[in-house]
Amino acid sequence: MPARNRKALPDYGVHCVRIRPVELRLYNTFTREKQLFTPIDPDQVRMYHCGPTVYQRPHIGNYRAFLFADLLRRVLELADYNVLQIMNITDVGHLLDDADDGEDKLEVQAKKDKVDPWQVVAKVTEEFFADLELLGVKPAHAYPRASDHIPEMVELIEVLIEKEHAYRVGDNVYFDVNSFPAYGKLSGNKIDNLEAGARLEINQEKRHPADFALWKSDAKHIMKWETVFGPDGFPGWHIECSAMARKYLGDHFDIHTGGEDNVFPHHECEIAQSVCALDSPFVNLWMHTKFLQVDGGKMGKSLGNAYSLDDLKQRGFTVLDFRLLLLRGNYRSSLNFTWEALKGAAEGRINLNDFRNRLLALTDCAAADGIDLKTLDAESAVAQANFAFRAGLSDDLNTSEALAAIFHLRNTFQHGKLDASENAAALAFLHMTNSVFGFLEELSTDGLADDAIDQLIVERGEARTAKDFARADAIRDELDAAGITLEDTPDGVKWFRG
Ligand code: AMP
Ligand code: ZN
Repeated sequence: MPARNRKALPDYGVHCVRIRPVELRLYNTFTREKQLFTPIDPDQVRMYHCGPTVYQRPHIGNYRAFLFADLLRRVLELADYNVLQIMNITDVGHLLDDADDGEDKLEVQAKKDKVDPWQVVAKVTEEFFADLELLGVKPAHAYPRASDHIPEMVELIEVLIEKEHAYRVGDNVYFDVNSFPAYGKLSGNKIDNLEAGARLEINQEKRHPADFALWKSDAKHIMKWETVFGPDGFPGWHIECSAMARKYLGDHFDIHTGGEDNVFPHHECEIAQSVCALDSPFVNLWMHTKFLQVDGGKMGKSLGNAYSLDDLKQRGFTVLDFRLLLLRGNYRSSLNFTWEALKGAAEGRINLNDFRNRLLALTDCAAADGIDLKTLDAESAVAQANFAFRAGLSDDLNTSEALAAIFHLRNTFQHGKLDASENAAALAFLHMTNSVFGFLEELSTDGLADDAIDQLIVERGEARTAKDFARADAIRDELDAAGITLEDTPDGVKWFRG
């Protein structure tokens, strides 16, 4: 024990916990319990995420699912895993209502827009990638498109037919759910119960109403391919992910994610196809994000509340405010989006930016970079925050608990209770948390992010208006220490670096 006074430990409930490969507990939809995460290959975690159907620019609900994938990758990397991450692009075969009958979402949109469906694909895919960049999402290692993987799908379907798990009716091919007794295990559905609600009367071709299409034939479909099944066909939505996941990650991989609506039928069907075709366990861990709701209800285009990232911007928010909003909830609970809640998140971010700026005024990035958080005195406030942050994440990505650890440290600092010797460690901690949460702008090489400077200048103006000159001067000193020079001009305050 070092020769200094012991501090009272903040009550985080868990002490000295680190994310280590064996300590990461993740909830598996399949087993319905949290389980210790152990990768199949100790050298690499392989994971697949169901990506967007590129018929409309993804809305903020979709981004809850995609940002969860990004968070999971970052947490695994924090735990020192090497991650191979794949997210697909669905550009054909996703029919309305996730059903086997009905129109292709892409073709419906193309008709509305009076354009070719491939133009819709090109436009929306571009919007999606621009959004990912704006959100600061770490690019996945590949974003395979369904339409580029038709031969891989056909190969899988042929194996399924050969093994009598699938059958042809004319140029259509269906999976025979009765040939796979485990069908329904992921979602908790039973084949017999599915019978009652299914569309037997609509599709007489199927042996069982729950059988699902692997390949559909339709001469009127625009996005179609000539294959061994006939001249005018296109794939079922589920076979796309089975084929792409196999190509990029192998027959058996670690993690597969999606939104809660993907559990059934999409992922249930993926399991059936892959297990039957490959005689392999397929996926070890299934993780699903609960829906983002808006004003307590479902979001939808027709309701006018399927907000895009532009809508957030138009209301004066940044996408990072949205990131923080999502982190305040737990991915396994549905989250209610309101503008008020987003405002709360934006305020939280102002506090965190302010915390970083104050630390930067007292220490610098070079000092923080030299600190290994694992070597800190275990009883110091920063070490405690570090443990609590990691403990939260280790517990099935409990981001609200991890966030609380950051705010707790900020409050300790704010109340002057952080040892001055710990400023650099606190900055190092904040940088580490940002590498996982990505909620603060990257620092420019000069230390302070532009928007953080703007924010401090606004605060300084407010302090002056309120005749709080001590505060206004303190902010000027803070900026000064960070190498920012202010100039009061008739057009307002201008700033420059150096
Ligand atoms: P889609 O573009 O419809 O294929 O959906 C892409 C992903 O977004 C899937 O993983 C869906 O489960 C997910 N998703 C759709 N709506 C929401 C929502 N409101 N909240 C969270 N995830 C969603
Ligand atoms: Zn999928």
